[in-house]
Amino acid sequence: MKTIIVGGGIGGMITALYEKQAGHDVEIYEAKPKLGGRLAFHNRGPYKIDEGPTVVLLPQMINDILKDLNLENRIEMLRIDPLYPLHFPGGETLLKWSDRKKQAAEIERIFPGESDSFHKYMKDMEQRFEAGKPAFLDRAFLQKSSFFTKSNISILMKLKAYQSVRKQAKKYFKSIKLQEAFSLQTLYIGGSPLQTSAIYSLVPFSEHAHGIWYVKGGYGKLAEVIAEALEERNIKVNTHAFVTEVKTEKDKATGIVSRNKYIPADRIILNGEFPFMKDLMPGQQKKTFQPSSGCLLMFFGLSDKINTKHVHNFFMGESLDTHMENLFKKNKLDEDPAFYVFNPSLIDDTLAPQGHGVAYVLVPVPAAEHITREDYLIYSEKIKKLLIQRTDHNLQDKIVWEHIRTPHEAKADYLFEGGSFGIAPSLLQSGVFRPQIKPFSYKNVYAVGASVHPGGGIPIVMQGAKILSELLRKEDEQVTIN
Ligand SMILES: Cc1cc2nc3c(=O)[nH]c(=O)nc-3n(C[C@H](O)[C@H](O)[C@H](O)COP(=O)(O)OP(=O)(O)OC[C@H]3O[C@@H](n4cnc5c(N)ncnc54)[C@H](O)[C@@H]3O)c2cc1C
Repeated sequence: MKTIIVGGGIGGMITALYEKQAGHDVEIYEAKPKLGGRLAFHNRGPYKIDEGPTVVLLPQMINDILKDLNLENRIEMLRIDPLYPLHFPGGETLLKWSDRKKQAAEIERIFPGESDSFHKYMKDMEQRFEAGKPAFLDRAFLQKSSFFTKSNISILMKLKAYQSVRKQAKKYFKSIKLQEAFSLQTLYIGGSPLQTSAIYSLVPFSEHAHGIWYVKGGYGKLAEVIAEALEERNIKVNTHAFVTEVKTEKDKATGIVSRNKYIPADRIILNGEFPFMKDLMPGQQKKTFQPSSGCLLMFFGLSDKINTKHVHNFFMGESLDTHMENLFKKNKLDEDPAFYVFNPSLIDDTLAPQGHGVAYVLVPVPAAEHITREDYLIYSEKIKKLLIQRTDHNLQDKIVWEHIRTPHEAKADYLFEGGSFGIAPSLLQSGVFRPQIKPFSYKNVYAVGASVHPGGGIPIVMQGAKILSELLRKEDEQVTIN
């Protein structure tokens, strides 16, 4: 059996390893010069910094899959606790802890009387996670009927899927700052806390329950380790190999076209952004998808570390609601946005020359074409001023180099509409409504990745690859029996 995988992101690479493990001949076609997709480093001379993902969630999910693939011990993960500070304008800082006792004490210190609500939040969310994970994260919904079962509907009601994450946080916490602290995590997957379904409240819960981790050497190391495994296992990788078409005959795909050449295959797995992958298939109906938010990213090589006390840091603006309204409803840049600062050099001296450091700043912005690259660059100057004011007055003198990535570069890198996280995690693009792992009527074409169920984020995309491989093993068995 010859399997071709279109796209060498984490979803494509993990699926390739599972396919090889099942004894198939596997080949990856990747448009870019190297594998990893969004899971990559920005390299500059002796400096390197993660270009996309930085927050490692659900370590058990990642480790279980690496173990399945005999890749355990290839990466080392460190637990980050405290998780991160949230710095509010006016000087107040809420430290978020994975450790529940410490978190309760910190909440009580700043918001007297609210620590009991935190305990209640964690207790309720734990039950919801226990019910929600097996129902929605561990399986696919190949038929709509398999989603709308009595049991799933009861779980959706339990998860309060009809509410937003923010509304759910409001049920527990009186302080708006605490509500923000327990809902801004939808931005990790490109959705507004005010609009994203409360099923995604499992993200802030998981930070406390399962922790935030750091891959030693940077998250991009995971892509490097997997790329090495592909080579060791003789999986052929074609880079600079953009796929332009999937050829079909009756109800089956017969192969792909890349660099004007037809390559036959028995099975095709699409890992690029789903709205583009869909268009590789003949005769598909037009369907519009809503993109996730974009990111303005600023990378710095520094002659010293940036002055933050923690690896992950959130700087809140005066009103997260206004930022979200501008971003998701008005499609415009907010003048006082919340932003995130990543300072891995605090715990990792492999990223820069001795004594030097690297840093990464992320501002959630609209993935909108009408905002020009020039507009984003002007905006980045304002953000830099804010950054200097709020983190490090000496930052300008420390800068050895800086690099900016806007949604325009993301779009050029095949990210849907320049959004960072695939299609938005809205209710009508989640669960059964998200493209599924076998999304077409063609018998041998499959999909995996951030825009496909179960959704975006490194562990969840890896989980999608695992679910897909389970389906493929069942289909293999079926062929053997017949
Ligand atoms: C700025 C940013 C921050 C993030 N932060 C986090 C975080 O902290 N934690 C977390 O868990 N996740 C985070 N994410 C999300 C995470 O990176 C993604 O969910 C995940 O990497 C998606 O993997 P994928 O395999 O679906 O897609 P991709 O990584 O996009 O890979 C798809 C690959 O397909 C290739 N391709 C596309 N079209 C074609 C074609 N026609 N022919 C051949 N190849 C093609 C692309 O070049 C790409 O390499 C972040 C993402 C970004 C951008």
